[in-house]
Amino acid sequence: AGTSPDALRRKFLEFFRSKGHLIYPSAPLKSDDPGLLFNVAGMQQFKPYFQGATPKFPGVEGVWPRVATSQKCMRAGGKDSDIENVGRTRRHHTFFEMLGNFSFGDYFKREAIGWAWEFLTAPEWLGLDPERLYATVYLDDDEAYNIWKDEVGLPEARLSRFGEGENFWPANAIKDERSGPCGPCSEIFYDRGPAYGSPDETGPNTGSGDRFVEIWNLVFTQFNLENGVLTPLPQQNIDTGAGLERFAAVIADVKDAYATELFQPIIRRLERLSGVPYRDLESVHHRIIADHVRSVSMCIADGILPANDGAGYVIKMLLRRASRQAYLLGLREPVLHQLVSGVVEAMGEAYPEVKDAQARIEGIVRAEEESFLRTLESGIARVSGLLDELGGDTLPGDVAFDLWQTYGFPLDLTEEMAQERGVRVDREGYAHAREAARSLSRAARGEGALFGGTDVFGQLAEAHGETAFVGYSARDAEAAV
Ligand code: ATP
Ligand code: MG
Ligand code: MG
Ligand code: MG
Repeated sequence: AGTSPDALRRKFLEFFRSKGHLIYPSAPLKSDDPGLLFNVAGMQQFKPYFQGATPKFPGVEGVWPRVATSQKCMRAGGKDSDIENVGRTRRHHTFFEMLGNFSFGDYFKREAIGWAWEFLTAPEWLGLDPERLYATVYLDDDEAYNIWKDEVGLPEARLSRFGEGENFWPANAIKDERSGPCGPCSEIFYDRGPAYGSPDETGPNTGSGDRFVEIWNLVFTQFNLENGVLTPLPQQNIDTGAGLERFAAVIADVKDAYATELFQPIIRRLERLSGVPYRDLESVHHRIIADHVRSVSMCIADGILPANDGAGYVIKMLLRRASRQAYLLGLREPVLHQLVSGVVEAMGEAYPEVKDAQARIEGIVRAEEESFLRTLESGIARVSGLLDELGGDTLPGDVAFDLWQTYGFPLDLTEEMAQERGVRVDREGYAHAREAARSLSRAARGEGALFGGTDVFGQLAEAHGETAFVGYSARDAEAAV
């Protein structure tokens, strides 16, 4: 159908081809940037061209100051991590596809805004209802504001201004000590209607973000950031990014991307294997499993294998998180590898590399989940024993924390087992023990950042809040789920 994710991706690239852009392939998921584990945006492979290099591309004739791509992105681990949002919001995934158009010293704000509007609203392209679209600009960016108001004709009631946290890309670039090409941005939001938000959500960036969903970010890449100092680039550039998953949900008029063919082939298999039907937001287990299996499959296809450090560590952790969710869903045998064919069904046409690597991905996933299930099983025996010996109806928090820290046995499973025997776990004591361990680990980490300035373990620890403690070394950290 014309609204399938595959059709949508093609449509985007076709539109920008018609505006004179070269259609260029996605860079692999693994980032060349020493400060990052993964590609987190479409612009990364083009950094030199924003900075003034002649836009010539390997294997392509001529010079192309206009390019469009569909870039494979991962936001898991490091500054950009969305792990904690996955399953809970309607709009965040760890792996996602960023559709983008780029100008290297060629067109600027007028065309970027005008074309985005045309693609979104023209009946022959997406044909979205213009009344549902909102735009934001950077605080003092009157130029972009006026293009929206006067040229597009967007009513001022649907136009607003925000600061560094929202309308600068990367967000909070200076504060977060980023480096590279950056600039103020203008974002486009689609109003999914009151059923998607809370009463206090009245426009873009005023609430959870699931009602007024951010669909497209247009970055006016005018600066280079180095050691906290912004310097104007020799040229004005455009870098845009639109989430294919968000487009797909809006266009199909379904609740979110999990209800589209990007995720349904995975979810259908999981329903069959678990016997538990998928029910929208409340099915957090299904959502996390589908997200993580997709991410891990795409990464393995790009040669990022489970490991005890770097990007591979994130893969390992995602697999363990997914295994745990499967366990909570009642599954006791390895099943994640049986979902890989769902990823291939959803993604194989656009990314043949995942189809080609299917057997290899299945084997790697299976080995990892088998090893994690063994950890879980020995943990279960240990918890059973502890509960047998326990007098009273409360399991002390430091005991529960030790199960996690020393044996990698997660709090929610301990609680589930305790509950079955009418025992509660002292959560306050758990939090206390975790805090104590964290300050120790912070002190131990003091001597320097890991991975070229990206403190992955520290950030994963923060991201996992409730249940994760990340230990003193990569080996300990491996136990973190
Ligand atoms: P949000 O505010 O929703 O977290 P963002 O501002 O972090 O999004 P950008 O860095 O501006 O996102 O990325 C450009 C576009 O990529 C977004 O407008 C959105 O459509 C898409 N996108 C960003 N993060 C994700 C994600 N985790 N999953 C799916 N799509 C995403
Ligand atoms: Mg974000
Ligand atoms: Mg945002
Ligand atoms: Mg944004």
